[in-house]
Amino acid sequence: MDAAIVTVGDELLTGDTENTNATWLCARLDDRGVDVERVTTVPDRVADIARVVNEYHAEYDAVLVTGGLGPTHDDVTMEGVAAAFGREVELDDAAAEWLQEEGYASEDLVTGTAELPAGARPLHNTEGVAPGAVVESCYVFPGVPAEMQAMFASVADEFDGEQTYIERVEAAEPESALLDRLAEVQDRFGVTVGSYPGETVTLKVTATDPEAAREAAAWLTDHVQQVDESAE
Ligand code: ATP
Ligand code: MG
Repeated sequence: MDAAIVTVGDELLTGDTENTNATWLCARLDDRGVDVERVTTVPDRVADIARVVNEYHAEYDAVLVTGGLGPTHDDVTMEGVAAAFGREVELDDAAAEWLQEEGYASEDLVTGTAELPAGARPLHNTEGVAPGAVVESCYVFPGVPAEMQAMFASVADEFDGEQTYIERVEAAEPESALLDRLAEVQDRFGVTVGSYPGETVTLKVTATDPEAAREAAAWLTDHVQQVDESAE
């Protein structure tokens, strides 16, 4: 299973808000073996949301959208998602009922907030107000991190990829010096190796077979300069 994430919000593009939702969703999906192929941030603008959701829906098994669900005029995500699927937004009875049960009786608030793409499956917001929605394989969550996280948990079982196994090895060599061994280990063991330079280089071995991941990590440990040795 592969997926794309679309985070919506002008405040993300000005740097006022750090895009922690994207990172959090990437980690949860990766945990579940889902390959995240794209993370895109778009402004609170119907046409931009519609265009990218439409494109990613055609390309990936699932699209996850967060942000811009509130009742204020600048929250237009549901209109954008509806447009991506050629649907109208319409008042969702179940969502309107949840809002009324929680004491939000104001006509405007209920109407604006409970309008979802026609035919969508509503998702209850246990931590806040605005309901989310599922349209085909597109999941729409609120922007508030605690609300988004709780709502993702309610549908997490629907994200189910191939289980992968991960091992990490630290190398005390410049990344450029490691290229030959990175190519060799991938070739020998049929694993994928990512290399992430920091103070040392973290080598992340990923495989669908746990034995292959362990053997590849052991091979790397034998064939790259170890961090402790270099400290001496
Ligand atoms: P609400 O139901 O509260 O109206 P909403 O879906 O309309 O939520 P936004 O109005 O877009 O969400 O954002 C609500 C809050 O969540 C803001 O403080 C915003 O900065 C924060 N937020 C939105 N998107 C993200 C994100 N990708 N990462 C981290 N925080 C975010
Ligand atoms: Mg917003």
